[in-house]
Amino acid sequence: MGSANADLVVAVERRPGAGETVLGSDTVVLPGGKGANTAVAAAKLGAKVSLLAAIGDDSYGQLLLDSLSAAGVDTGLVRRSERPTGVAYIFVTPDGENSILVSPGANSALASEDVDLPGARVLVASLEVPLATVEHAVAVAAENGIRPVVNISPPAKLSSKTLAALDPMVVNEHEAAELLGQDADPRALLELGPKSAVVTLGARGALVIEPDGVHEIESPQVEAVDTTGAGDAFTGALAAQLAQGADLVTAAMLAVKVAAISVTKRGAQPSYPTTAELSL
Ligand code: ADP
Repeated sequence: MGSANADLVVAVERRPGAGETVLGSDTVVLPGGKGANTAVAAAKLGAKVSLLAAIGDDSYGQLLLDSLSAAGVDTGLVRRSERPTGVAYIFVTPDGENSILVSPGANSALASEDVDLPGARVLVASLEVPLATVEHAVAVAAENGIRPVVNISPPAKLSSKTLAALDPMVVNEHEAAELLGQDADPRALLELGPKSAVVTLGARGALVIEPDGVHEIESPQVEAVDTTGAGDAFTGALAAQLAQGADLVTAAMLAVKVAAISVTKRGAQPSYPTTAELSL
């Protein structure tokens, strides 16, 4: 479960200042949002995925449905809201930095009543949808023997009951620093309550933190072209592996491979590999 957004990407020489108008490139419209990206990443690896999300009754919503269906994601749980589909306005400057403005729209309408996890083995959630809805879904998962994997992104304060159910919580380095303070030992993530934690470290790979110890997972070295959605590729691949019964370290070893391939190509969803592309 999570967000589904249209990403509107414009290349600009510089970001507009207050009161200023700047001309940019043609707009490129791409399917995105952490929830949709993660679902597509897992489905491309052959997992049976259903996305719980909310979109508007508009052309961006249709774009998302089409991309989800093309990747093999079941869209039966994608709710149609009266609000517009979420949009991320992404300005890319020549130095490769992104400035992003998100209008959440329909994502804000995803409600606890919408939560339905029929036959699931793993619930993967991220936090671009209302926190109360995610907390409800994690509770439903925990009651039904479904493994909750939550990407704490963007960082938010979850209840101790929710944290205690996570197996694992997934964060990148910046999110870990926000939760623990700068330079804190990542092992302290377990003190927040989850059963396990994974910290993604960009080009350096990932750390798997379990009560019996920390495992460093090295990333394959690649020429990075575009890291958009790398974290979502990682989380989707991790969940796909866990659903097949892999242990967390084995799952993370595959996830760094999938995420490394994703950064060698432009865009988020189009850059995610299929199982066939993984074994090349
Ligand atoms: P986020 O995308 O959330 O900011 P990271 O930057 O940590 O998170 O990236 C997530 C994962 O993507 C990493 O754990 C790694 O597997 C992969 N990744 C990101 N950047 C690179 C890179 N330059 N080279 C190889 N893999 C990368």
